[in-house]
Amino acid sequence: MSSSVDFFTCPKCGGNAYREQDNKTCEITFSCSSCDWHGEPVDNSSPQKSDAKDYYLLFVWRSVEPKLLGPFKTIKLRDEKAKELKEDHGDLSNYYQVEVSKGAEINIDCYAGDFFEE
Ligand SMILES: [Zn+2]
Repeated sequence: MSSSVDFFTCPKCGGNAYREQDNKTCEITFSCSSCDWHGEPVDNSSPQKSDAKDYYLLFVWRSVEPKLLGPFKTIKLRDEKAKELKEDHGDLSNYYQVEVSKGAEINIDCYAGDFFEE
């Protein structure tokens, strides 16, 4: 094989796009089978794309146990919850903002204690 191909969703039309890398030159080319996209940046503010978001709060209890809270309808609601948790748990725990496209599924889990041991 002289090249490798990855298929993915075309950012322009949503069709079947692919990325091809030549193993000799390492040159990467992008193409789409449904439109004329060739890897140029796509304007994500185009009206066909929804910019609706779900807001989550990732709470990591004492750097041990991650917990995903949400989705919250607004950033404000999420931030209020973050403040509430911070009051209860203080600096020993961590609080992160998570923002995803509406309806996207997020799965968060921790590695078991022996995962990183040889
Ligand atoms: Zn396309």
